Formats: sequence, structure tokens, C-alpha cells
Amino acid sequence: MPASATPENFFSSRLVAKGSPLLIAGPCSAETEEQVLATAHGLKALGRVDLFRAGIWKPRTKPGGFEGMGSVALPWLQRVKVETGIPTTVEVATPRHVEEALAHGIDVLWIGARTTVNPFAIQELADALAGTGVPVMVKNPVNPDVALWAGALERLERAGITDLAAIHRGFSTFAPSRYRNAPTWILPIELKSRFPQLPLICDPSHIGGRRDLLLPIAQKALDLDYDGLMIETHPDPDKALSDAAQQVTPARLGEIISELHFRYRSS
Ligand code: PEP
Ligand code: MN
Repeated sequence: MPASATPENFFSSRLVAKGSPLLIAGPCSAETEEQVLATAHGLKALGRVDLFRAGIWKPRTKPGGFEGMGSVALPWLQRVKVETGIPTTVEVATPRHVEEALAHGIDVLWIGARTTVNPFAIQELADALAGTGVPVMVKNPVNPDVALWAGALERLERAGITDLAAIHRGFSTFAPSRYRNAPTWILPIELKSRFPQLPLICDPSHIGGRRDLLLPIAQKALDLDYDGLMIETHPDPDKALSDAAQQVTPARLGEIISELHFRYRSS
């Protein structure tokens, strides 16, 4: 059983303290120090963001595009934490990423959809994460395969990493869909049946792929009692170097949050 409500457990203890779903926000990619800090201060002003996300090593489908700023962006995230008090999270795909992120005080790590599909990569990450005590979020694999998602979580658990959460970012389908990645809501429910205590976070940005779908997808997740939302935010979304169509300004995120109906949580 991965998560229990102990103070050492980042996700469960914050959920208990907050009493409402966690909000994770920040740009798809860290592009410049100014962009990262402008996003972070805009999010700080909302007063309810629990974790600041930014991709610095970007797993792009095709070569030749923007592949992230890499380690040069890690000090920018340290500034985010100092100036806003919001803890930070980055995507890691290799043991070197883990080592560099932790050396720069990143609080939480996440494993992306293109890494969860590869048991060799997950095992290497599990070995690198063992003994660090860092909280880890695991996105579903790109393909609709719950066993692979569960297997990644099990590899981490077996390495002693117990402060875990799962992120539902939708599934790739061959059939045309209004979604960038089909939500197929039954699959995360199936994962929950295998890990009843595991916090489940929804990523409406990568499911929808479009700004106008963020609100209905986030609402559906809340109606299904998800424990958190991860939503990409950028000070000038149309100019974003990755995932421009799905990012919103911090101010727009504030409007979306105020339009959402949160269920009463008794525990
Ligand atoms: C991201 O969060 O920016 C990302 C690359 O997501 P995913 O792994 O879900 O495609
Ligand atoms: Mn993205």
C-alpha cells in the first residue's frame, strides 16, 4: 500500500491539511528565468497552488524542436521556492536527472508518460531514487495499459519509494478524438482498485490539448473525487515553446478554479 497519512508523506499530509484537492501548476517548459518567475508570482497571487511544475528535460516526439533548457533551469526553480514559498517539481527520465534535480533542492519528481512505458528506464530510476525519500508522481504510460502503470508503481515501491502519487494524463489512441489524449476514465479507476490509498491527480492539459477543454475535464476529475489537478500555465501561452494550445495564464487558471465545483470531502 503506497501512501498513508503520515506527516512524512508529502501528498497525503498536504491533502489532509488542505481538505481539498491539490493544485499543481506551472509551465510545460521552463524557457527563461523571467518566464518561470513571472508564472510563479502569478500563481502565488492565486493563493492556492501547492506545487510549481516546470519541464526542463523535455521528451519531444520529434527531434529538432525545443528539448528543454536542461540543468541551467534548476537555479530558476530554486528562486521560485525562495521567492514564493511554493515547492517545486520537475520531470525526470534518467538517474542523472534525479541526481541533478535533488542536488538543486527540487522537492518532488515526476515520471513522464514516455518513460512509464519502459520497465528498464523505470528500474534505473527506482534504483536512483532508493533511499532519497523524495515524493514521486508517476504519469500513466502513453498507451492505455494499466498493468504497465501499476508495474512502474510497484517497481518504485519495491525500491522503498512509498511517497507516491499517480497522474492521469490521458491515453494515446489511433482513432480521431476531440481530446489530445483520450481520458478513458475507467482506467485510472482500475489502477485505484489495485492501489486504494494512492493519491490520483488529473492532468487536464495533456488530456485536452486545448484551453477550452480544461474546465470540463477538471470538473469531471473532481466529480470522480480526484486528489489533485495539474494544469499548465504560462504568462504568454500563445508564445510557449511547447504545448502552446493547452496552456493558460495564471489569471485564467484562477478563473477556472473559481468556476469549478469542489465536492465536500469528509476525510
Ligand atoms: C508534460 O507534463 O509536459 C509532459 C511532457 O507530459 P506527458 O509525459 O504527460 O506527455
Ligand atoms: Mn506539456
